Amino acid sequence: MAHQAPTPRQVTTGPGPATSPEDGPTVTATIAPPTECPRCGYESLQLLYSSPVAGAWEVHQCHRCLYCWRTCEPDRRTRRDAYPDSFKMTAEDIRDAPEVPTVPPLRQS
Ligand SMILES: [Zn+2]
Repeated sequence: MAHQAPTPRQVTTGPGPATSPEDGPTVTATIAPPTECPRCGYESLQLLYSSPVAGAWEVHQCHRCLYCWRTCEPDRRTRRDAYPDSFKMTAEDIRDAPEVPTVPPLRQS
């Protein structure tokens, strides 16, 4: 590949970003309630808590896998499509989940 001379970037200098009188702190609209569990996709959810400041966050829980999350957490914790695949569960996964193994008896040497 032939060496190419870098082309100078066009830099536009101006008075800066325009501001309008409407600019100001944006108030987030009401929280859209989740429709499915991020972990198992179940659609039966329960609202556990709402923030003391109305509209800041809510805590929801899945009725099937008991996963809980707060709506202000990042997408990878709150959205099914962004939840890590390796942590997703299916109905079969939940049904066949092994119990926590007990501590085996001490070996006799
Ligand atoms: Zn779930």
